[in-house]
Amino acid sequence: MSEISKLNILVVGSGGREHALVQKCLQSPLAGKVIAAPGNGGMASEVECFNLCVEDIPALVELAQEQNIGLVVVGPEVPLSLGLVDALAAVGIPAYGPNKDGAQLESSKAFCKDFFARHNIPTAAYGTFTEVEPALAYLEEHPAPIVIKASGLAAGKGVIMAETQEEAVAAVKDMLEGDAFGSSGKEIVIEETLYGEEASIHVIASGEHFVCLPPSQDHKRVGEGDTGLNTGGMGAYTPTSKVTPEMQAEIEEQVIKPTLAGLKADGIDYRGTLYAGLMLTDKGVKVLEYNVRFGDPETQVLLPMVADDLVPVLLASAKGEALPAKLQYHEGAAIVIVLAAGGYPGSYAKGQEITFPATLPASSAIVHAGTSRDIDGTIRTAGGRVLGVSGQAPTLQAAVDLAYSVCDQVEFQDKYLRRDIGHRELNR
Ligand code: AMP
Repeated sequence: MSEISKLNILVVGSGGREHALVQKCLQSPLAGKVIAAPGNGGMASEVECFNLCVEDIPALVELAQEQNIGLVVVGPEVPLSLGLVDALAAVGIPAYGPNKDGAQLESSKAFCKDFFARHNIPTAAYGTFTEVEPALAYLEEHPAPIVIKASGLAAGKGVIMAETQEEAVAAVKDMLEGDAFGSSGKEIVIEETLYGEEASIHVIASGEHFVCLPPSQDHKRVGEGDTGLNTGGMGAYTPTSKVTPEMQAEIEEQVIKPTLAGLKADGIDYRGTLYAGLMLTDKGVKVLEYNVRFGDPETQVLLPMVADDLVPVLLASAKGEALPAKLQYHEGAAIVIVLAAGGYPGSYAKGQEITFPATLPASSAIVHAGTSRDIDGTIRTAGGRVLGVSGQAPTLQAAVDLAYSVCDQVEFQDKYLRRDIGHRELNR
């Protein structure tokens, strides 16, 4: 990494992930001015926020130019898939995240599965289809239980786990003939159901250089015991003992290195986060999906564990420079618990006033996700996932106890949280 002087940083996005990124950037001695677009109620209390849509690429580029930004950190996948990083590169502004070509790993599941096949990366057996007849013929040969996925971006909601053949047939017809997922569902992937525990590996990549963050696990279902509807994520923790050091080495050798080499071979200079969603099956590790940005809420536990200054690492990735071989991490474990609006992921109320504890215990933090801030400073609910409460401690149990003690001091009407975040790891 080259020597750098202070630089202004723009964080793009409005969720808990972006608030955690803002907080990490603010800690850096290299950070000059930090700003966010569009930001949220929590970010607005800490940095200047600009109310722009993350899909408005020209406006974001203009903002970065006007504000003399030296590093843009892109949170969500949509602006990446729309070519924000390419547009910033065209005006000479380094941006952390892949270009539009690299973002296809997430924006097209069909592209991603074909990439896995071409580069021998372990994944579920699959077929991709745009027509109903061949898709139904595939289902005859590969009966339920089976997984049907909309190929395009569907905010984590385009996956149907069909238990019966009827459900599978209905899902195929809904996506290809109906309008279940709009244009995202006009191409589908049908794939084998894998069994095992899921884990996430985040790497920061710069071409073929990469540095791994600790393995994490999240809780996607809304209900305790991992039941009920899928959500954006109700909580997460790191590390997980489920990913042993041997497994970590296997993941780096059989998944991460071939992926980055494959991207290079395909002419893609991949920079930014590569986040592998893995199924740890009894036949080895298989990749369920790639995301091309940090996970939300995983970021809220991963970043506080990083002891090093992250800004030079993000900048080196953005510029395609070499990365440090390893990052230094704090000892122990971290957990984040999502406080949601009652009703989420279905319909829920917005605009409820939130009250916070006057002070937070050491090693705990509150990041804002769906919040807004009134002129007088009052913070209100403005989304389904409202806040993330994180705790860091020498053990996961201590981190859990710390985070829940803070959760109980935050109040808003119809606050909903799961009380069992981390249960798999705690019960091992
Ligand atoms: P994806 O967006 O592809 O990661 O899928 C979202 C979620 O659906 C995953 O986190 C898994 O819980 C589940 N899932 C996806 N594909 C499979 C599969 N082939 N077998 C079992 N579960 C799956």
